Parts: sequence; C-alpha cells; structure tokens
Amino acid sequence: MDANQYSFPPAEAHHDGPLFRNALQNLEEAAKVINCDPNVLERLKKPRRTIAISIPVRMDDYTVKVFQGFRVQYSPTLGPYKGGIRYHEKVDLPEVVGLAALMTFKNSVLGLPLGGAKGGVAVDPTKLSRTEKQNLTRRFASELGPFVGPAKDIPAPDVGTDPQTMAWFMDTYSQEQGGFAQPGVVTGKPIEIGGTLGRNHATGLGVVFVAEKAFEKKGIRFSGSKIVVQGFGNVGSFAAKFSHERGARVIAVSDVSGGIHNGDGLDIPALMEYVKTNKVVKGFPGSQPISNSDLLELECDGLFPCALEGQIDVHNAEKIRAKVVAEGANGPTSNAATKILHKRGIFIAPDIIANGGGVIVSYFEWVQDIMSFFWDEEEVNLKLATIITKAFDLAYRLHTEKNVDMRAAAMALAVQRLEKAMLLRGLYPR
Ligand code: NAD
Repeated sequence: MDANQYSFPPAEAHHDGPLFRNALQNLEEAAKVINCDPNVLERLKKPRRTIAISIPVRMDDYTVKVFQGFRVQYSPTLGPYKGGIRYHEKVDLPEVVGLAALMTFKNSVLGLPLGGAKGGVAVDPTKLSRTEKQNLTRRFASELGPFVGPAKDIPAPDVGTDPQTMAWFMDTYSQEQGGFAQPGVVTGKPIEIGGTLGRNHATGLGVVFVAEKAFEKKGIRFSGSKIVVQGFGNVGSFAAKFSHERGARVIAVSDVSGGIHNGDGLDIPALMEYVKTNKVVKGFPGSQPISNSDLLELECDGLFPCALEGQIDVHNAEKIRAKVVAEGANGPTSNAATKILHKRGIFIAPDIIANGGGVIVSYFEWVQDIMSFFWDEEEVNLKLATIITKAFDLAYRLHTEKNVDMRAAAMALAVQRLEKAMLLRGLYPR
C-alpha cells in the first residue's frame, strides 16, 4: 500500500497552539545563535506530514464510538521518525505538532540517528475497559500500518499509554505484515517481547547524570547536596532514588496530593514502598506537609521539576532559591522564566537534554531489536551516561562560547545538527 495516498498537506491554521508557538520561538532564537541558513530555518518550521485518523471502537455495551487520532511526522532528516503516543482527552492536532517538533530537536541534540514524531488519541483512557483500550490501540495501529515500521516510524509510550499498549501495537503491526514478530516497530515494550532492561528508570537516571554534570560546573558536590523533586511518578521517583543513592539529601518531594518535607532528607527507598501501598506521598511518616508552590521555592542545590509543564513562570521565577534546575518534565519552565533564572545565575539543565534518558534507552531498545541481541542493564546505563553527558558537554560549550542560557544552547546544537545534515543531503530533504 502506498502510504502517501493517505497523507494530506498540513493546514497551517490547524497547527497553531501554545506548545508549537513556544517551539517555534525557541527555534528562531537558536537559529540566530548559530546563524542558521534561512532556507533550512524555513523548512524546520513545518512538519513534514500530519496524519488524522478516525478510530471506530466497539465498546463493551456493543455501541461504536469514533475517536480522533493523530500521528505527526515532523522531520525524518536524521533517521526514522521517533516519538510517543499519548492517550488523553485534551489531545488535539496543535499539541501533537508541538510535541513532534520537540522530539525532532530532542533527538537531534542528543545525537541520535532518529527523526521526530508524536502521536495521540483524544480519549480519557481511565474511562476505557481493558478490552476497549485494546480495541482502540489495535485499530489505531492498523490505520497507522502503512506509515510506521522499524525503518520508518517507531512509536513509544507517553501519557496514558504503557508497555501493554505497545505490546498490542506491535502484535497488530506484526500480524498485518504477515510474518513473525517485528519488535522494532515500537519501543517501551515489555522485556519478554523485545523490550530493554533499564528503560523504566532511564529518564530519572538521565536527570541525575545531567544534574551531576551541572553541579560540577557550579562547583557543588553532589554527595551531601540538597535536592527537591516535584512529581513522584516514573521520572521523579527514580530521580529521587538515584540522587539518594549518590548520597544527596532529598529534602522534599511532591505529587498531585501535595508535598512532603524533611530538612534532614527523606528515606527515598522507604517512600517508594509507601507510595506502592498508599498511592500518594502524603502522610509519609517523619515528614511535614508542604504545598507544591512552597516546595518549588525551597532553598536547595538542585530542583528537579518532574511533573507538569509551566511550573516555573514569571510569577515565581524571582522566588526560586535552587542553584540548579534540572528539568525532568517537558516544558516545566516558561521561556520568560528561563531568562529570569539565567539572569539570576540559576543554572538550567533544559528538558531536551535532562529528560532525554527515556528516548536514549528507547533508541537502545530499537537497536537491540534490530540486532536480536540484548544487553545487560549495566551496559544500558553506561551507554546512557555516555550519550547524555556528551550532549550536555557540547551544549555547555556553546552556552559559554555564545553567552546564552543552556536552553538556547541546547536548541542551537539541535538546529545545527539538523542544518548540517540538510545541507549535506541537499537542502530540501523531507
Ligand atoms: P507520571 O504520570 O508517572 O508522574 C507524574 C507525577 O506528577 C505523579 O507523581 C503525579 O502525582 C505528579 N503530579 C501531577 N500533577 C501534579 C501537580 N499539580 N503538582 C505536583 N505533582 C503533580 O509521569 P512521568 O512519566 O513521571 O512524566 C512526568 C513528566 O516527565 C511529564 O512532563 C513527561 O512528559 C515527562 N517525561 C517523561 C518521560 C518518561 O520516560 N516517563 C520522558 C521524558 C519526559
């Protein structure tokens, strides 16, 4: 089947959303830093292909509901498209375009041989039964069949999707290809069907590798330092755990229930056990409650926002008392707040590097699937450290050479790599 028959030219009016606007603003600034070729810049402002799909799903009560799904393939300049699939009721095309652009820059700054994409379905997955979620995923995978594949586009889990979702996606794709399992079509799979060791904790571990480098630059010893973590989900809990293991004092953490604080440091392994039973951090023995906004303003060496976007903005940027902010979440600091923090001498390790551990280990999963040869966890962690610290070092060099904040430096590095590839390939690659 010819995938192109399903694509349609992107209607720009449908792309305009806050996330994409922000990404374009960062792109323009980065282009100035490296004096980017204007034709390359023009090309980078647009997604290559947007795919909109109606997904009919037989519900448990035998009615059929039709959900709206998207896949945006932003740039294949550096390799096959790569980016997660999100199930959330607020998913719309502008959001997916913005996230696909971010993936393009993230994969580029990290030096991965991958392009950028993102997908999503406008659905509240908590309201679906397991069967309904499976039906939805299988139909979405089937509709996306002509566009995805180990050498074309490799989805992964994101908000509202998980390893089981990826298992269904991979199974549907493999069945439709008519042969044996094709694990390389998605990453974030369960280990038993071609997933990789080390993926679960990869983003949190990456945040800590990057924070260690940032501390080094600021002359702070990681062991004995004071860390504050907002969000205690996948990213935040592992960032806290690996900080704790390295001798840092994690003095406060929070989740949707609120925050907890202990100036001497929280017992993170015990807290992880507590959360397994109680679901939230609230009420952890030996801690005092603290609000999420007060938590962000605590005096500390490292603040790791690992929950939501837009947590540090012009309203609280003047009150942040951390020396280093390492962004575990996507977009936790607004562009205006970035400028304020930079001026105040607070070092920002930007999201496209700091939370890159997830996509780096996804890349390892894809490589292992292609080779059908799997690595042990130590090897995964070591290779993760090599790639993420290299990206940090290169961005840091640009940050000092050009005297721009680390976010601008990271973006400039991403754009520079894309620019070089585009010019070598002949300016108008897809
Ligand atoms: P998650 O759902 O596992 O955890 C999110 C955490 O944030 C939960 O503890 C939740 O209670 C908390 N939270 C929600 N609302 C909050 C609020 N108002 N105040 C404080 N805490 C709140 O999600 P995750 O996978 O840990 O992802 C967190 C962030 O990191 C997201 O921005 C995500 O896009 C980004 N990210 C995740 C990965 C990954 O591999 N999981 C990779 C890159 C980026």
